[in-house]
Amino acid sequence: MSDVGKNIIRARENGAKVVGCFPLYPPLELLHSFGLIPLVLWDLKEQVHTLKESDRHLQPFTCSVARRITEFVLSTEGSLFDGFLMYNACDTLRNMPEIITRGLEERGLSRPFLKFHVPMTPARQTDSTGYFAGRIRELIIEIENAFGVRFSSERFLASVRLYNAIKKLSLEMENLVAEGRMSYGDFSLLIGKGFFMTPEDYLSALDGAAEKAKSNPAKNISGGRKIIVSGILPPPDALCSIIENAGLRVVGNDVASQARSYAYVPREVGDPVSYYTDFYRNHHPCTTLLYSSDERLTLLTGLIEKKNAQGLIFIGEKFCEYEYLEMPFIMKTLKQKYIAMLQLEIATDDHEHVEAFRTRIEAFSELIG
Ligand code: SF4
Repeated sequence: MSDVGKNIIRARENGAKVVGCFPLYPPLELLHSFGLIPLVLWDLKEQVHTLKESDRHLQPFTCSVARRITEFVLSTEGSLFDGFLMYNACDTLRNMPEIITRGLEERGLSRPFLKFHVPMTPARQTDSTGYFAGRIRELIIEIENAFGVRFSSERFLASVRLYNAIKKLSLEMENLVAEGRMSYGDFSLLIGKGFFMTPEDYLSALDGAAEKAKSNPAKNISGGRKIIVSGILPPPDALCSIIENAGLRVVGNDVASQARSYAYVPREVGDPVSYYTDFYRNHHPCTTLLYSSDERLTLLTGLIEKKNAQGLIFIGEKFCEYEYLEMPFIMKTLKQKYIAMLQLEIATDDHEHVEAFRTRIEAFSELIG
């Protein structure tokens, strides 16, 4: 059994109900405030090694993220979840609740599946504040009914503080990586594991790692080979090693499961409507939050400037049209600003086969050095 499965069993033994959530930015604080353990189902490459079940339901030209979520949820470990929550994102994920619900029914299982709608129109174009407030209030009632629990503003505020502490510590650790006190590979591994831990355990793991990193000396990077990494998923672990062994320093990232998830720390309030209005409206731009995509280029160029980076490595998720639709324009703009960019593509089976990228990464390192 994977670590995720063991964590779910441990949480359930302690009387908690575990809710599998996707895509990346669900209302975790709200679920947690009800005493539930929300786990974000993302980057499941360590947990999913075959795609037999998923291939029965999804076309092989869907991204690895969707295929692995489906496979995991319909596996023995997936049956341990007490419920699921999904909000709207890309077309690939759109029918996942139905696919998963039918797949569970085939196994004689029935689980509450909460669906939450985040308006994707820019605030300056359409004011959806009232609609969104209604959806949050409905979601609270749905959670209460599905799990027999009651909302508490005090508990919500405590959960907000816990998740914000995780975000702040993640930002601090990103700086420790930039200073060379910790490798990006170790940082990426830890952030990835955090998705499948309780927030309390995750905060404690981050705290321990940050303290250890602070005791390491800062290391200068020769030739100014500082880069930003971007993508829906982080580089596979073996690719992180290749990047760092090529003499490159990851001084910042725009990875969906990393900075895009923790970079914006919302105001700490006990009212979920105010909190999530701020959370989604001011979120770090992401291709999956359509209303924020206009801000992405400004953010990327600002990040490159702020971190004094010389280049950007884009880890393309094969078949993710959202990311690929934006890339040509981003590449063109970075080129005009004389910022070097390397575009790599990772498909479902590529995680173990990244050696083919070594020469390109080494050449890129020489180029920007
Ligand atoms: S946004 Fe891209 S990577 Fe994420 S689920 Fe959709 S297609 Fe897959």
